[in-house]
Amino acid sequence: MNEIVLASHNQNKVQEFRQIFCSKKIISLNEIGFDKEIKETGLTLEENALIKVRKVFDFSKQTCISDDSGLEINFLDGAPGVFSARYAGLKASPIDNINKVLRKLGNTSKRKARFRTVIAFKDMTREKLFEGFIDGNISEEIRGSSGFGYDPIFIPNGFEFTFSEISSELKNKISHRFLAIKKLYDFINSK
Ligand code: IMP
Repeated sequence: MNEIVLASHNQNKVQEFRQIFCSKKIISLNEIGFDKEIKETGLTLEENALIKVRKVFDFSKQTCISDDSGLEINFLDGAPGVFSARYAGLKASPIDNINKVLRKLGNTSKRKARFRTVIAFKDMTREKLFEGFIDGNISEEIRGSSGFGYDPIFIPNGFEFTFSEISSELKNKISHRFLAIKKLYDFINSK
């Protein structure tokens, strides 16, 4: 496998991709000297993933990938979705975002939700999208403290626990991000 640039400065993300690929050939923006911030102006996860991968490909001219994820809640017409990181405002903390979701859902029993990841791939000749998702429900209160983002309120189908109450090893085997990365892995290794 040739080197692939992951359009992210987040070293945890780079590690997760490297683990699934069993390869150190996934490199970050720091390693190619790309220090600009990419504005995520898209209205969908797909648009944002494409914005990032195209920007970085234009800069590096080597095979690039990018990812964008979000939590989609049926009762809220798919919100927070692409705005998951800044649902309660640009400077909001993860707990602010969680509290906004719980407030908006109130006492409703309609709590179905989906975590979704879209990965964009671009090389000299191809541009492709890969999707991974996991369905579940939003809990009535915050449960557990591990993980990040909305983990303390997302109960995956088939489980009684939130993402924050299960081990990160288990989460990483069933998560939206894992499933999308796995599809990308199969595509890259299918030739
Ligand atoms: P990103 O595109 O991976 O940066 O994700 C955007 C936002 O979606 C994050 O800041 C979180 O709020 C939320 N999110 C994405 N994936 C997860 C997850 O696995 N657990 C909890 N929150 C997540």
